[in-house]
Amino acid sequence: MTTQSSLQSYHPTPSDAAADPWPEATVKHMLVGGERVESVTGAWRDVTTPAARERVIARVPEAGPEDVDRAVIAARAAWPLWRDQHFTGRQRLLLKIAELVEQQAEELAQVTAADTGNAIRTQARPEVAVLVDLFRYFGGVAGEVKGFTLPAGSTQLQYTRQEPLGVVGAILPWNSPLMIAGFKVPAALAAGNTVVLKAAEDAPLSILMLAEICQQVLPPGVLNVVTGEGAVVGEALVHHPGVDKVSFTGSTEVGRRIARSAGSRLAHVSLELGGKSPSIVFPGEVTDALIDGLLLSSRVTRQGQSCTAGTRLLLHRDVHDEVIGRLVERMSSLRVGDPLDDASDIGAIINETQFSTVREYLDEGLSDPRLTMELGGLPPDTGPLAEGYFHLPTVFSGADNSFRLAREEIFGPVLVAIPWVDVDDVIRMANDSAYGLAAYIWSDDINRAVDTAHRLEAGWVQINQGGGQMVGQSYGGYKQSGIGREVSLEGMIAGFTQTKQVNVHLAIR
Ligand code: NAD
Repeated sequence: MTTQSSLQSYHPTPSDAAADPWPEATVKHMLVGGERVESVTGAWRDVTTPAARERVIARVPEAGPEDVDRAVIAARAAWPLWRDQHFTGRQRLLLKIAELVEQQAEELAQVTAADTGNAIRTQARPEVAVLVDLFRYFGGVAGEVKGFTLPAGSTQLQYTRQEPLGVVGAILPWNSPLMIAGFKVPAALAAGNTVVLKAAEDAPLSILMLAEICQQVLPPGVLNVVTGEGAVVGEALVHHPGVDKVSFTGSTEVGRRIARSAGSRLAHVSLELGGKSPSIVFPGEVTDALIDGLLLSSRVTRQGQSCTAGTRLLLHRDVHDEVIGRLVERMSSLRVGDPLDDASDIGAIINETQFSTVREYLDEGLSDPRLTMELGGLPPDTGPLAEGYFHLPTVFSGADNSFRLAREEIFGPVLVAIPWVDVDDVIRMANDSAYGLAAYIWSDDINRAVDTAHRLEAGWVQINQGGGQMVGQSYGGYKQSGIGREVSLEGMIAGFTQTKQVNVHLAIR
């Protein structure tokens, strides 16, 4: 068993001016109708950094239903011109945004690290890079939003058009705000919609910075960005009759509520929700690549705050002990610390509530005599890491699939290892979950791996790799992990357009 000490190498230093982009709390504005605005009521909310508990790093508007109304009106007003232009007009502007984001990538990464707590090297910079790629990708395929013609005879012209839905209300979580904005905004805009984007309460700053970049490029009202409480601003957006589609990423609980509200007025809706992804290791050589892949797919370098985290380790009995031993050794070398420090591999948990929730799962694991804690454990309550919401990567063994730790989405750096012997049994266990977002399979027998992939109930399966979403791929959940697809070209067409069939009688002599 590894002790905690090797993981506690750092330091959040709130007074470290060099690593501090906000010597004093900064005021950031929303984007509505092309203008940077406060809320209608003039109310503000504090944004804190999770790396130094309640330390305020910025203030953003506390919007209300009137602000949502203004944003939706602006988006509706901008829609006809945005929709009716040749696709190259939209394409040019999306590519320009990609260029500007790239130019400000480092600043965006720093803002992301400060307000989300995601470590700059392992998470925040890659997230900005994905955002750039997504604007390029959807800009590039804007001309592919097209229909078909039917061979309907010489007197008939029958064709389809893929028409935009109108105003998209997009709601973001806090865990990877820029990447998830990148899954929604460029796709919706490329397809000819306008957007009202709602940032998460805990991580609005990178999104407001993205809004400032977009403001330089897009016509007023094409993208509007609002901040504030989900129960107020989010609800107002979901219920607004001027919003044609709600594109939501967040928890399954809130997603269910949104589906009900949007469904009651028959608005389009897509939901990217939670997960508890299995990572199935078949017998074979335990290579460094396998251990690195398991580490990556577990998303511990994102503090486990990823909907696709492969935290249910289903390890074949033959390799169970060796995999755990090697993985624990590898994880012990990770450095937990200041998200803005390049030396940190793992940053901070987003807020106190989430920090306490993860701790409750740890307490439960530690008090269960059937489980062995192989690494990690409770967060330090003294020393520099106690200054922020820092959890240690933790691995439990001895579980079976019925344990709460194996069934519920912890959204923290906590892995649970479960042994297996029979392939049918491991597939049954992997599928025995309310969720079905991602899954990982590790085997040097590709036939067995592909067969397993086809038998898993998950929207995204990776074999022998564990990285994040690749630009252009399909992405979305089965079961309680969501409904709808938006991220690929096909997803953009399915998620952000509707089909119109046009039949013309041609009077040919
Ligand atoms: P959350 O559901 O609490 O909040 C998400 C967003 O919804 C926030 O902007 C919030 O303000 C808003 N919201 C809250 N209540 C609302 C309401 N009643 N009406 C409208 N909007 C409301 O989720 P979170 O804690 O921000 O994010 C973590 C969750 O998101 C995890 O469950 C994670 O798995 C999931 N997630 C899923 C994906 C995916 O792609 N499937 C990606 C990232 C995160």
